[in-house]
Amino acid sequence: MRDVLMMTPGPTEIHEDVRQAMAKAITNPDLDNQFFEYYKETCDKIKEILHTKDDVLVLSGEGILGLEAACASLIEPGDRVLCIDNGIFGKGFGDFAKLYGGQVVYFESDDRKPVDVQKLEEFLAKDHDFKVATVVHCETPSGITNPMDQICPLLKKYGILSVVDSVSAIGGEPVEVDQWQMDIVLGGSQKALSAAPGLTFLSISQDAWDAMNKRKTPIASFYCNLAIWKDWYKEKWFPYTQAISDIYGLRKAVDRLIEGDDYIERHKKLGEAVRYALVKSGLELYPYNGFSNTVTTFCVPDGISFQDIYTEMLENHQVMIAGAFDYLKNKVIRIGHMGENCYEEKLYRTLKALDKTLKKYGVAMNGSLHQHFVETL
Ligand SMILES: *Cc1c(COP(=O)(O)O)cnc(C)c1O
Repeated sequence: MRDVLMMTPGPTEIHEDVRQAMAKAITNPDLDNQFFEYYKETCDKIKEILHTKDDVLVLSGEGILGLEAACASLIEPGDRVLCIDNGIFGKGFGDFAKLYGGQVVYFESDDRKPVDVQKLEEFLAKDHDFKVATVVHCETPSGITNPMDQICPLLKKYGILSVVDSVSAIGGEPVEVDQWQMDIVLGGSQKALSAAPGLTFLSISQDAWDAMNKRKTPIASFYCNLAIWKDWYKEKWFPYTQAISDIYGLRKAVDRLIEGDDYIERHKKLGEAVRYALVKSGLELYPYNGFSNTVTTFCVPDGISFQDIYTEMLENHQVMIAGAFDYLKNKVIRIGHMGENCYEEKLYRTLKALDKTLKKYGVAMNGSLHQHFVETL
C-alpha cells in the first residue's frame, strides 16, 4: 500500500502505539478473567471521556452497529419515533428506526445550519408523544455540530429518550452525557479516537435500560440486542467472542486521549484555523454556521471537479481527502481534522497540497491556503 497521509473524516490516521497494541498476543476473551477486567476498565475510561456514570459497552462492529443496536433495543413496532434531521446521517437514522417498526416522524432543519432548537421547541410543544428521538451530534458530510447541550435536555423534558450518533464528535468536541441528559450516545473507533475501524461503543442511561425492561415484544435481533449485556460483568459472560485485538487498539487510543493534551482545545484551534484559511483564500464553506471542529466541508470551486482534486492530491501530493455522498456527491470536499489528523504539520501539508492543486487547475485564490493557516496559530 502507498504511504499516504489520510486526512479523511474517518477512518483517521492511527498512531504507531495503537497499531502495536493491536499486535499483542491474544488470550481467550470468554475464559480469561483478566480480560473481563480489562474490558471493564476500558469501558470505565470511555465513561471518563463521555463524562457519565451510565453503563458503557464496546460492541464488535463499526459505528453503524451502535446506531442500529440502539434502535433495535428501544423501538417496538408501532412506537412513535422523532427523527431530527438536518443532514444525511440524521435522515438515515429514520430508516433504522423503521426497520424495527418505528412510526417515524421527521423534524427537518436546514442542512447548512445546526438544528434550529427554537423551532424544535415549538414543534414539541404541539406534539411530544414520542418514545424515542434520534439525532446526530456532528453531521460529518456537511461539517456541522448540533447543539446537543440544548436538544437533549429539551427531549428529556418531554420524557423522550434520546439516541445520539456522536461518532464523529467524541474525542474532538465536548460530550457531557450526564449533564446534557443523553440516553444512548454512540461512538466509533475509527473517527476522533483514531483506532482501527471495527468497534462501536455506547453509553446507556437508566431510563434506556428501563425502557428495554418494559418492552412488550422481544428485541428482534441478537447482535443488536443491548439487553443481553445487562449482567455481563456479574456473570463474566460475553454474548459473543470479543474482537480482542481491536479492543487492545481502542484501549491504547483511549489511554492516549485521556493522558494527552487538551484535545477539545486543539480541535477548536485547528478547526478554526482551517476554516479561516479556506475563507481567506476565497473558498466557500458548506455550513453557514455551527461549524464542526472535527471536519471541514467546503464547496467544490467552479471549473474543477471533486475527482480532479482528489486524484491530483493523492497522486502528486500523497494526501487523501474526501468528498461526500448522497446529494452532496461531487458538490463538496471534506478535510478531516479529528484525532490523529488534528495536528498542525499534517494540516499544513494538506492545505499546501490543496493550494497547489487548485492553482494548477486555474482556481482563483487570494494568497495561499497554508500561509493563511499558519497566520492564526
Ligand atoms: C462515520 C460515521 C458513522 C459510521 O458510518 P460509516 O460510514 O460506516 O463509517 C455514523 N455516523 C456518523 C455521524 C459518522 O460520521
